[in-house]
Amino acid sequence: RIVYVNGDYLPEGEAKVSIFDRGFLMADGVYEVTTVLDGKLIDFDGHFTRLERSLNELDIANPMDRDQWLEVHRQLVAQNAVDQGMVYLQVTRGAPGDRDFIFPDPDTTAPTVVLFTQSNPALVDSPKARRGMKVVTIDDIRWGRRDIKTVQLLYPSMGKMMAIKQGADDAWMVQDGAITEGTSNNAYIIKDGKIVTRALSNDILHGITRAAVLRFAREAQMQVEERNFTVDEAKAADEAFVTSASAFVMPVVSIDGAELGGGVPGPLATRLREIYIEESRKAAI
Ligand code: PLP
Repeated sequence: RIVYVNGDYLPEGEAKVSIFDRGFLMADGVYEVTTVLDGKLIDFDGHFTRLERSLNELDIANPMDRDQWLEVHRQLVAQNAVDQGMVYLQVTRGAPGDRDFIFPDPDTTAPTVVLFTQSNPALVDSPKARRGMKVVTIDDIRWGRRDIKTVQLLYPSMGKMMAIKQGADDAWMVQDGAITEGTSNNAYIIKDGKIVTRALSNDILHGITRAAVLRFAREAQMQVEERNFTVDEAKAADEAFVTSASAFVMPVVSIDGAELGGGVPGPLATRLREIYIEESRKAAI
C-alpha cells in the first residue's frame, strides 16, 4: 500500500513519524474517514468542512486547502486502486523536541499529516446490513467535546469489545438515561413512522452521514424528530439503525437483547440505506 506522510507518497513500510509526536503521546490530533465508492469520494466537502472545524477548535493550523486535500485523497485512491473502501486522514499537532503539556509554537512545530486507504469490497453488499446489528448499551463516560473528531478512541474501542464479549456487534452509549450515539456511528430509532435521533450538541459527533440521511429522509417525506430518546423508548421502537461514513445506514435489530421488528431489518431503515447509497453514488466526486 502507498500512504501519504507529510508531503510524501511512500510504501507503508517506509513511512515514519516521530515518537515525540503529540498524536502518539497525547492523542492530540483529529481525523476523518471518507468513503470511496466506485473509486470516488462520498461527501468529500462535508468531511473537509468538519476537519476544518475540528482543527479550529483545537488551535491546529490546517496544513492544506480544500483542493490540496482532495488531490491527496485522489492520488491515494488511484495509486492503491481502491474501488470500495475509505481514505483515513489524521492531523496531529506534530512533534516538538520534548514532551510537554504546553502546546508547542506553531512557527517551529508543524502538524503531522498522515493518510492511507483501506479497501472493503463488502461496503455496499454488506452481510451485516442484511442481517442487522445487535447493540448493547453502556455508560457514556467520554469527555465533553465529542463534537470534535479527535483520535482519543480508547473508550469507544473498549465499548465495542464489551459488546462483542456479550455476543453483540456494537454498543450504544447512554448519558442521563438517553442514548448519545454508537461507538463509531450516530444512533436512530423509528416509532410509528417517525425517525428519532439526538439533536446536535457537544454530546455527539456531528455525523456527515447523519446530515445526508436526515436530508434524504425529509425529501422522501419521512418525519424526523431531533431530540433525546431513552433506552426504554429504544427497546420499544419499531426499527432502529446507525449511520456512519463506512457503515452508511446499518439496521439495528436488537437492543440489550430486546428484539426490534421480529429481529430483522425494518422497511424504513432498509429504504433509507438504498436511498443513501443511490444518492451518494450519484454525488460522489
Ligand atoms: N459518532 C461517532 C462517535 C463516530 O466515531 C462517527 C464516525 O466515525 C460517527 C458518529 C459518524 O460520523 P460520520 O457519518 O461523519 O462518519
